[in-house]
Amino acid sequence: MSLEKYFKKRKKGKTPEPFEISKTGKEIFVVQEHHASHLHWDFRLSFKEKGNWVLKSWAIPKIPPQKPGIKRLAAQVEDHPYSYKDFEGTIPEGEYGAGEVFIWDKGRYKKIRWEEDLIEVELFGKKLKGKYILVRPKANFPKKSWLFFKSKDK
Ligand code: MN
Repeated sequence: MSLEKYFKKRKKGKTPEPFEISKTGKEIFVVQEHHASHLHWDFRLSFKEKGNWVLKSWAIPKIPPQKPGIKRLAAQVEDHPYSYKDFEGTIPEGEYGAGEVFIWDKGRYKKIRWEEDLIEVELFGKKLKGKYILVRPKANFPKKSWLFFKSKDK
């Protein structure tokens, strides 16, 4: 994935969302509470790809789990620009994702495993702390559907 999809869905000047591309960055995560037509939480992990820093992104329809034992569906969405990590504001009516966006949590992360169907990270946020797993089950799921949960091991 690249940022092409992100740029296609949004009109510069119509939405306050960022459009800058970042050549530098660090390993961070952000969760944005997004009051769109359906309330959801966007979980994003920074990742360096072809020289650019982007945010790998998943939309989670329920509040992200702070304890092990709760699994959430996480629908992968288009990569977002790295600069999106600081975005809070209102996407106007009629634009893609219209509604208010707040930062729910953010912090550094440490990569433990990063594979095609399995991402394991340690999160250092205020609400999300510890090891988290994103996994794309092979059976019974469309390609974009992942599961997101807090790992049991310390
Ligand atoms: Mn969203």
